[in-house]
Amino acid sequence: MRYVSTRGAAPVLRFADTLLAGLATDGGLYVPESWPRLPHGVATLADRPYADVAVEVMWPFVEGDYERDEFASLVADSYATFDDPEVTPLYRLDESLWLLELFHGPTLAFKDVALQLVGRLFDHELARRGERVTIVGATSGDTGSAAIEACRDRDGIEVFILHPAGRVSEVQRRQMTTVASSNVHNLAIEGTFDDCQDLVKALFNDPPTREKLRLSAVNSINWARVMAQIVYYVRAAARVGHGTPVSFAVPTGNFGNVFAGYAARRMGVPIPQLVIGSNRNDILFRFLEAGDLEMRDVEPTISPSMDIQVSSNLERLLFELYGRDGAGVAELMEAFRTDGAVTIGTERLARVAEVFAGARFDDDETRAVIAAEYERDDVLIDPHTAVGVGAARACRRDPAVPMVALATAHPAKFPDAVEQATGIRPALPDRLADLLDRPERYETLPNDVDAVRDHLLATAVLG
Ligand SMILES: *Cc1c(COP(=O)(O)O)cnc(C)c1O
Repeated sequence: MRYVSTRGAAPVLRFADTLLAGLATDGGLYVPESWPRLPHGVATLADRPYADVAVEVMWPFVEGDYERDEFASLVADSYATFDDPEVTPLYRLDESLWLLELFHGPTLAFKDVALQLVGRLFDHELARRGERVTIVGATSGDTGSAAIEACRDRDGIEVFILHPAGRVSEVQRRQMTTVASSNVHNLAIEGTFDDCQDLVKALFNDPPTREKLRLSAVNSINWARVMAQIVYYVRAAARVGHGTPVSFAVPTGNFGNVFAGYAARRMGVPIPQLVIGSNRNDILFRFLEAGDLEMRDVEPTISPSMDIQVSSNLERLLFELYGRDGAGVAELMEAFRTDGAVTIGTERLARVAEVFAGARFDDDETRAVIAAEYERDDVLIDPHTAVGVGAARACRRDPAVPMVALATAHPAKFPDAVEQATGIRPALPDRLADLLDRPERYETLPNDVDAVRDHLLATAVLG
């Protein structure tokens, strides 16, 4: 498979090159040149192990860059780290509503599903090229641990994650700082999350440092992350529907997860409806209502992984809506950047509405959903999952079509919100039960780019 940029002006690449490139040189995102069809349909996949289905679904996207056995072994290793043999088990909430639990990976959130594989693919490709990279990233608490678990113990990768000192929860900090791997470095910065992000940007914008350390990122626009997420849509649709239609509801921030559902549909999975749940950062909800994209300030909520105003992966859907016209998308994105607002017009909006629906929940409404699901079924869900479940119940079009709501984080990852809503504080799973007793390792540094740069150059293998 070859990959083209959504803005039409970057080189066409093969899979392994898009993996290392991330963003395209024209500022666009890589997408497959065409959508492959599932070779044997959906129903045949219902009873096969997760890793088998994963190879079957992803193979057309990577073919030509790997031997099939080699790829299958990377996939098998990735999903062996999950604590449930089903990897992404289903849980039935009512007659036609299911939860798809995506939180059985090392850090209890759905990003592990993609990052466990992407870390291994990265390392494999670097080894093949005889190269190394230094990954540097900033986290407000949630994504740092998934990146660290993806990169730990990999020979070709060293990872430095900056977090704001004293401003992440103890569980989130410990999920990062208790990883005892020599290629993992945590930096507590005396500042805010925005300061951490600015420091990372400053490092990337400093060519001598960038080149010396071979700075890299595994960010949410990487095609390989979307690709790995297509798998659980296909498998859940197969198990619930056996080839008949199944809809999905997805708590959405950057649009990466729900775009994977769209990709599954393009591959032939019968998915009539994709429901988007938003918190108060509701640019996508407003987009579905009126066809406008309008930037506003980010507001903090109890579902922090969705506190995003510019959903970068939406550009991949816009590329399809614009008939794969890269120049048209480039013009739209440029107008969005300069004016802070654009519209796609009523005809394109009508095409979006054929598949997508959306609902929005503020924090009180989110807690009400958590409480209602607990009363109905004794099930504890985290605030992100609650936004998706609430949207599923609000937007279900046809009660005869089953709907699968994606459970994107374990309730114990956001215990305060769950306890406020239900009175019950969810416990960490057994394998993390001793998290609060494990030794921590991190360096505290001032909010100062010279100090951070000097530290990296002094400690990194490539420094
Ligand atoms: C990242 C994240 C989301 C949002 O997913 P996108 O792909 O950014 O739309 C939802 N829930 C949780 C728990 C997350 O970590």
